[in-house]
Amino acid sequence: MKKLLNDAELFKLLLMVDTDLAQQAHANGCACCGAKLHRGNYPRLPRGGPVGDWRYSFCCSKCRKRNTPPSVRFLGRKVYVGVVVVLVSAMMLGLNPPRVTQLRRELKVDERTLRRWRVWWQETFVQSPFWKAARARFMPTLIEAHMPLCLVAAFGCNASAEVVRLVQFLSPITIGAFPGGGAM
Ligand SMILES: [Zn+2]
Repeated sequence: MKKLLNDAELFKLLLMVDTDLAQQAHANGCACCGAKLHRGNYPRLPRGGPVGDWRYSFCCSKCRKRNTPPSVRFLGRKVYVGVVVVLVSAMMLGLNPPRVTQLRRELKVDERTLRRWRVWWQETFVQSPFWKAARARFMPTLIEAHMPLCLVAAFGCNASAEVVRLVQFLSPITIGAFPGGGAM
């Protein structure tokens, strides 16, 4: 998993997925009134990874409402790169303290942040309507106390394509309709 964090190809792939999601949203038009959307990307400054750019976003040409498509690069409203949140949370559960210390230094996140991520996965995420609707898809049943490691294991995540599938699965929670998403 360490290799994936430094894999520029993975992030290129995630950007491609986001571009597809954005094109789809643009083609669909405004979620409120169906009118044409104007591009209005806004800058993001993720602290968790190398994707220090912007998030796709659109503005309705008619009702002016902002339309932000799901993103596989950003989880919740916070600036952390989605894939880093997933992988680091998993690593934190699966790795020994020296390794966690090293990762934390590399990613510039403190222990409190890591703990908050774990609490988010094990308390907020598992209680969410998103997860309650999705968990039946997993056989055998995932042990929620082992989140997000068991989720990472279920998707494999040894190859970039598997990580992309996992973050695609999680992408509905990036559009702001996710209770607790902002608390991360
Ligand atoms: Zn509109």
